[in-house]
Amino acid sequence: MNRWIRRAMTSRGLERCFSALSGPYVTIFMLHRPLPGDRSYHGTSEKLLEECLQFAVKQKYDFIALDDLIDRAVQGQRIKRPTLCFTLDDGYSDQVTRLIPVLLKYDAKPTLFVITDFIDGKDWPWDAKISFLIRNSRLREASVVMQGSEIPLKLDSVKDRVHSRRLLSAYAKKIQSSDIPEFVDRISAALDVETPFSAPEDYLPASWDQLREAEKAGVTIGSHARSHFVLSAMNPGRISEELVYSKARLKEELQSPSQIFCYPSGTTQDFSRNHELMVRMAHYRGAVSTISQTSYLKDIRRNPYRVARIGFPGDFDQFMRYASWIEALRSKLPV
Ligand SMILES: [Zn+2]
Repeated sequence: MNRWIRRAMTSRGLERCFSALSGPYVTIFMLHRPLPGDRSYHGTSEKLLEECLQFAVKQKYDFIALDDLIDRAVQGQRIKRPTLCFTLDDGYSDQVTRLIPVLLKYDAKPTLFVITDFIDGKDWPWDAKISFLIRNSRLREASVVMQGSEIPLKLDSVKDRVHSRRLLSAYAKKIQSSDIPEFVDRISAALDVETPFSAPEDYLPASWDQLREAEKAGVTIGSHARSHFVLSAMNPGRISEELVYSKARLKEELQSPSQIFCYPSGTTQDFSRNHELMVRMAHYRGAVSTISQTSYLKDIRRNPYRVARIGFPGDFDQFMRYASWIEALRSKLPV
């Protein structure tokens, strides 16, 4: 990165001027899994995460827990310094064993959103099944037919497989949740790989004991629904049940779970204004999406049920940009 751009990004003077004009903002990062050995999906390396946290500490960023951030924003309280917030989605065991210890080492106050049926061992997520099937197929190409559509899949290289997985996940989000088991069966047959009944070794969930330990160590645990189906693929009765049941499970198992909900997948196509209302009716105090931009406190106050988060990037320069006032400025500009 050009040294002048780097200097502008890290300038406290420019940051103060910008936030005086724009109002306070926070970068809320979203992490998924740690980097897998075979690079078959994107993941965060512990080394990069540590490097970014060291930079944040050196630059005197504050870390804030998500519940605290949303409460403060709703109550109209201000924050004085540039602030970062860390969240992780899904509840895989390797998130707790590999990424959370790094976040806790720097007192980064992370929130982990878990899929409660996954933790309970009742099922494993549909997107993890697709990932498993794509990774383990010996075929070089295949084609999946579902409801009259044909999805051609290339499987020659790691890059091809990542692309094929994305095609299947995008299709799965467009069909009803009740059709997903059939879709997974069809992928399984087309790729000539059996889908294990319970999560295989690379996809193990955290246990409730692991989550209780994490909670004691300073992690807040929240609901990422019961099944991980996107809300737009479910009927209202099923959505309410997912919201209420997952919240109750967390309350049964943990001391002080998050009051914030995390939309499965969470893009603007995956939930609607109606769903925001349903989350509110289920007594959550807010909800986080995957709408990728810096979060202004005044926007959170206006609507705490559509809070933006930025995916944790794959390199340090991008982290610096996402954490800086330049990204906050970019988030203000119309796309
Ligand atoms: Zn998720």
